Amino acid sequence: MRVLVTGAGGFLGSHLCDRLLALGHRVVGMDNFSTGNKTNLEHLKSHPNFQFVLHDVANFIEVPGPLEGVFHFASPASPVDYLELPIQTLKVGSLGTHKALGLAKAKGARLLLASTSEVYGDPLVHPQPESYWGNVNPVGPRGVYDEAKRFAEALTMAYHRSHELDTRIARIFNTYGPRMRPHDGRVVSNFIVQALKAEPLTVYGDGSQTRSFCYVDDLIEGIVRLFERGAPEPTNIGNPDEFTVRQLAELVLKLTGSASPITVEPLPTDDPKVRQPDIQRARETLGWEPKVSLEEGLRRTIEYFRGLLR
Ligand code: UDP
Repeated sequence: MRVLVTGAGGFLGSHLCDRLLALGHRVVGMDNFSTGNKTNLEHLKSHPNFQFVLHDVANFIEVPGPLEGVFHFASPASPVDYLELPIQTLKVGSLGTHKALGLAKAKGARLLLASTSEVYGDPLVHPQPESYWGNVNPVGPRGVYDEAKRFAEALTMAYHRSHELDTRIARIFNTYGPRMRPHDGRVVSNFIVQALKAEPLTVYGDGSQTRSFCYVDDLIEGIVRLFERGAPEPTNIGNPDEFTVRQLAELVLKLTGSASPITVEPLPTDDPKVRQPDIQRARETLGWEPKVSLEEGLRRTIEYFRGLLR
């Protein structure tokens, strides 16, 4: 296949490019490096099956030649980023998704949308099955991401229903691993970098809020399977092992051997209190479930950051 990956310079986008190339596909990577990182693609520069296009996908996307797949991964994804880039986040989720769908339609390609557990907002149903409609504050600061992705899902389903476009929607839960930016702002990278620099670990609120963390290799495997054999209905892709933020901080301290203290900072507005994917659909339709434990995934991620900070 020849496929397009938008957001190719990002944490997930770059791992996805690697995986698709390893499967023998030809990959066109696209990014405007708003939150992506050139070094994530450095090793692919001379790969014969990889081509890079610098472009903001909120504008008309032109890719000459055939395309069988579009993986739409372009978007700020860390709360810190989307709070700094609210309008760009809304534009890439809405206009960018429209352009990606238009391209997929013109090429007769299958499109996979990278959606998010944020569509469930601060959930009133726990764990979250795909059938749950969510509890999102549309006008709060996180609304720029949550509503952009909800709109993106609605538009994807509309293209599927009206144009018979072959589509997939992956609802991605908190994912971590090598190639996260050290100042990305998300909890796993923050805690590891803080621990390695002997700085205090910043727990927001009382640290009793929960997240369920998926190692990047597991996530990419789920994405590829969803693309290959999934259905158009949204599918949760995440690791159902749930931890409090304080448990995560303690685990990072243990695994790094750091003597950093834990400090408490204010909880961001509308920060979800709990989050855990119900992955029954992915298990049944894709035969997929995560394999890497939090402890093992953290070890690998700590090793990456050690190398980066050296
Ligand atoms: N968080 C924290 N300290 C940090 C960064 C984040 O306690 O330095 C908390 C944050 O308030 C949230 C959880 O960790 O409850 C996960 O935050 P993240 O930004 O990774 O992603 P989210 O799941 O909120 O999108």
